[in-house]
Amino acid sequence: MHNFDYHAPKTLDAALALLRDKEDGKIVAGGMTLLPTLKQRLAAPSDLIDLAAINEIKGVCRDGNELVIGAMTCHADVESNGDVRALIPALSYLTSVIGDPAVRHRGTIGGSIANADPAADYPAAVLGLNATIVTNKRRIAADDFFVSLFETALERDEIITSVRFPIPDRAGYQKFRHPASGYAVVGVMVAKFGDKVRVGVTGAAGSAFRASDFEAALEKNFSPDAIMDIAISPDDLLTDIHCSNEYRAHLVNVMARRAVAAA
Ligand SMILES: Cc1cc2nc3c(=O)[nH]c(=O)nc-3n(C[C@H](O)[C@H](O)[C@H](O)COP(=O)(O)OP(=O)(O)OC[C@H]3O[C@@H](n4cnc5c(N)ncnc54)[C@H](O)[C@@H]3O)c2cc1C
Repeated sequence: MHNFDYHAPKTLDAALALLRDKEDGKIVAGGMTLLPTLKQRLAAPSDLIDLAAINEIKGVCRDGNELVIGAMTCHADVESNGDVRALIPALSYLTSVIGDPAVRHRGTIGGSIANADPAADYPAAVLGLNATIVTNKRRIAADDFFVSLFETALERDEIITSVRFPIPDRAGYQKFRHPASGYAVVGVMVAKFGDKVRVGVTGAAGSAFRASDFEAALEKNFSPDAIMDIAISPDDLLTDIHCSNEYRAHLVNVMARRAVAAA
């Protein structure tokens, strides 16, 4: 049995002080990933620093041409938020297809992005919508955030405080959902900002990536037909018990076309 000390700071500063003080401490947000990891003895932190009582990093607001989502906002609150539904409906839809109702009411955007699970939905939105990840220390561009499997640009004593999503002209998200967990076998977010298009892909590789060939074709002609014949190389894609890399490459094209149609 592994013992740890539990802390429930009420401010971000108090959480940061604990994180700096407790060398083997770990932040807990919704606990949806972290608690199973502890149960399986894959992590053994000395201290758990729970962010649940820190109201300053919860909620959604509009700031000019961006929607700002506090790191501790759960998926269900993003889904039902009026601004998200009106201004980035694809993001509301994305959160509605995460896991199940229990996961959506506990799991948070900060926890999801910090965890960088290759099959999580949010990474496609972060890349596709060109979000900025705001921490206690700095602002990290979407393109610099996801490093590799379960690895991000975050430092040990860094807490995500919010994620800023620019409001696109149009956007669409579609995923091929794993029937048991709900995770994305492949998920694609397509977003149009003026004459620029971004395509964020999750589930297919060790970490989320942009499909630049799709982006170039969609900037000329924003329609599913424009990318119909563009193949994604399976070389760097995942093969696992769910499917092969060739099947994932095929799914990236199918999900991208559906996302354009949905946008
Ligand atoms: C059965 C099941 C099904 C799921 N299905 C899906 C799915 O379909 N799609 C999907 O995208 N996800 C899915 N998830 C994942 C879920 O949506 C959560 O987002 C995810 O588990 C992590 O969020 P959390 O808030 O629970 O983080 P936690 O588990 O509390 O933390 C995860 C990690 O992030 C770190 N962390 C947390 N918050 C911060 C922060 N603000 N700053 C820095 N580091 C932080 C923690 O230290 C920890 O390392 C599923 C989970 C379960 C259990």
